[in-house]
Amino acid sequence: MRVVVIAGGKGTRIAAVNSEIPKAMIPIDGKPILEYEVEIAKRYGFTEFLFIIGYMGDRISEYFGDGSKWGVSIEYFKEEKPLGTAGALGYLKEKLTEDFFVFYGDTVMDFDMRAMLEYHQSKHADATLFLHPNDHPYDSDIVDLDSGGKVRKFFNKPHTEDFISHNMVNAALFIFSPKVLDKIEVGVKSHIEKNVLPACLEDGMNLYGYVSFEYIKDMGTPDRYYAVCEDVRSGKVARMNRIYSRPAVFLDRDGVISKEVDLLCKPEQLELIEGVGEAIRYINEKGYFAVVVTNQPVIARNLCSLEELDFIHAKLETLLGHERAYVNATYYCPHHPDSGYPEERKEYKIKCDCRKPAPGMLLKAADDWNIDLSRSYMIGDRPSDVKAGENAGCKQSIQIEMNKPFALLEAVKSIL
Ligand SMILES: [Zn+2]
Repeated sequence: MRVVVIAGGKGTRIAAVNSEIPKAMIPIDGKPILEYEVEIAKRYGFTEFLFIIGYMGDRISEYFGDGSKWGVSIEYFKEEKPLGTAGALGYLKEKLTEDFFVFYGDTVMDFDMRAMLEYHQSKHADATLFLHPNDHPYDSDIVDLDSGGKVRKFFNKPHTEDFISHNMVNAALFIFSPKVLDKIEVGVKSHIEKNVLPACLEDGMNLYGYVSFEYIKDMGTPDRYYAVCEDVRSGKVARMNRIYSRPAVFLDRDGVISKEVDLLCKPEQLELIEGVGEAIRYINEKGYFAVVVTNQPVIARNLCSLEELDFIHAKLETLLGHERAYVNATYYCPHHPDSGYPEERKEYKIKCDCRKPAPGMLLKAADDWNIDLSRSYMIGDRPSDVKAGENAGCKQSIQIEMNKPFALLEAVKSIL
């Protein structure tokens, strides 16, 4: 399987670099970004590369040659004129007859390529997009997924002020099948995110989002460059690969993140408690997953549909996004054990293993995201939250006062 690297990006001046060079050749500790990408792919056994080069592309081909120095093989395609991120792919239809990875040449990352490929294959996807939440969704390209991970819609920036969505951002890393290339006109300038993927979707192709919290960042500005360099040196980039377990802070929703309202079932009822944005941002910055685990018997009681609940969670993520914070995942228990309400939905009236104090949601999250429960915390406002944390084997479970401003912030600062 080939790895196509789009390295035709215009030259750039990063403060640490004196002369103008192609973005992919920006050095981190004396090594071009592109070289890190080659090494990652090689580590996962992918050794066939196709570099799309353009502006000052000779600097790239002179450095990498045929790739033998790295134990890989590299072919080049040189763009005669810039054709956007996708245009050059149009010329490569004959070469790319099997599914292939697409990297941008100026991305610093470390991710489990096998896990993404397995996901892509399990979905029989025509294209798989690497997605993640970030701390500025309000000015990012957002991808809307259904509950099975299939792409429903693209919301490219800029967004209106009242835009509400899950915090699911395109990280600009893909697996494409050759079918995607049919949507690229030869010799015409086009972009993967703006033109090609929306055209694929419109055509009814199967696009899937692969959600992951591994490290992937591009170099936009000198500030970001320095931050990324530091992350490479400190080992953070490598450590965030999903093969390594990470700790989480599990959070109850009502009374802890959002104001407790009896049986919240309308998005307009949802309001963040003061200090919550800062608290969750703190969790994010400390490298812990922030995972919401919430009992939502409103589903069993039929006071709220699954779609409405999903929209409430989208609103929660939007409000947090405005405070530069994000949750990694949300789990809810739709069940309720007591029947007898006239409006109830029978199928959810069961004794389940996810309703807190049972640990089901925490165990599922741990399994989904390789979370180390023994280094994780549970924070809630009820004894059943504390019990759920204990039942799951968390390091510590903390009960805070319901709806109290800054209670969550105090709690996370006392433990992390
Ligand atoms: Zn349940």
